[in-house]
Amino acid sequence: MSLSDELFGRGKKVMPGGVNSPVRAFGSVERNPLFIEKASGSKIYDADGNEYIDFVNSWGPLILGHCNQDIVESVKHTIINGFSFGLSTEREVLIAELICEIVPNVEMIRMVNSGTEAVMSALRLARGFTGRDKVIKFEGCYHGHCDSMLVKAGSGALTSGEPDSAGIIKATAKYTLIAEYNNLESVEKLFKENKDEIACVIVEPVAANMGVIPPKEGFLEGLRKLCDENKALLIFDEVITGFRIALGGAQEYFGVSADIVTFGKIIGGGMPVGAYGGKREIMERISPVGNVYQAGTLSGNPIAMAAGYKQLTMLRDNKDILSTINMNAEYIANEMRCIIEKYNVSAQVNQVGSLISVFFAEEEVDSYKTAVKSDKKVFSRFFNSMLDNGIYIAPSQFEAMFISFAHEGGDFKKFIEVFEKSISELR
Ligand SMILES: *Cc1c(COP(=O)(O)O)cnc(C)c1O
Repeated sequence: MSLSDELFGRGKKVMPGGVNSPVRAFGSVERNPLFIEKASGSKIYDADGNEYIDFVNSWGPLILGHCNQDIVESVKHTIINGFSFGLSTEREVLIAELICEIVPNVEMIRMVNSGTEAVMSALRLARGFTGRDKVIKFEGCYHGHCDSMLVKAGSGALTSGEPDSAGIIKATAKYTLIAEYNNLESVEKLFKENKDEIACVIVEPVAANMGVIPPKEGFLEGLRKLCDENKALLIFDEVITGFRIALGGAQEYFGVSADIVTFGKIIGGGMPVGAYGGKREIMERISPVGNVYQAGTLSGNPIAMAAGYKQLTMLRDNKDILSTINMNAEYIANEMRCIIEKYNVSAQVNQVGSLISVFFAEEEVDSYKTAVKSDKKVFSRFFNSMLDNGIYIAPSQFEAMFISFAHEGGDFKKFIEVFEKSISELR
């Protein structure tokens, strides 16, 4: 028995499913999960010493790869002066100034400890600001695990086949209205049926939790217009896209403005951080200035801020980082398409910036409905073959691959070789 298997066996006795987050259990790819010992650059090493090229990067935060030396140094330097004070520090001002400088329409920001917390707080703020109760979300989009967002959710909820969680008060779910991603009419209809009741529309500007699905031309612009016409706020959940598809995120990439933006993942450089920001007029409704209450014992934690600030500074100061990883992603996505064509396998490759998904589906994937037609059994065979050959991608059909700045030529060469082998074996 491998050490990973043994740890999983012990873990299962004391942790539900042996894990602290569902997708780590590898249930949908029918094998025991990995237990990781350490990582460096583009590689992770499991408890048994196996090496994998990591195309997940902790689900996105590590855009510079594992153990970036500058970030490690910054954390080390900070940690010796205290773990947490429950009082403000210069670093919190610095990271807030930096984010307001690089993200359009963000004049103020509040740090929290996860993407879930950022979304939960942003929704409260939108409701407090507008005095309205209802929110529109999209089928297959994932916004963390707060009650109102676990309705038709993506990511692990979708992977497990249960996009609606048990334990959500029916009255709560009633205030979450579900529209179809890339379908403006479905949004317009909800606005008509719930006139003057909608506080906000929340969207992943690039859907990345039902696999990667780019917004169709005009979709985000249309949401902006509908929100303006109905005096509702538009929330871009940029927990994945922020600081990734462009330095200023999806607002910069697509040229569409949001009222509130939520962040997570990259913003913490691998530490547990989330944030939400927007125009002063909206953000000053938050306590202690306004009456929308939101607080956090460890929010703005000095070590987390040190890691996040260093990573964001590096992305700002070296514009080549994002352009390089975007180019590399485009290159391997094209290689993947050629291989799929060569072996005549039913599969689609979607790519936006450094995010890629391969769907084992016959038709183009541009919506939740087309995404869920993908063949999960085929994905499972594909995943297992990739992993057995040293390539770690997300253990689910409905997640993204994340390219980092630590991935180099040799990593891509090996990825493409193993991809070809794995695809050829599917026939
Ligand atoms: C990961 C994710 C979240 C939740 O973030 P956590 O830090 O896991 O709570 C929210 N929204 C999106 C778009 C995400 O990808």
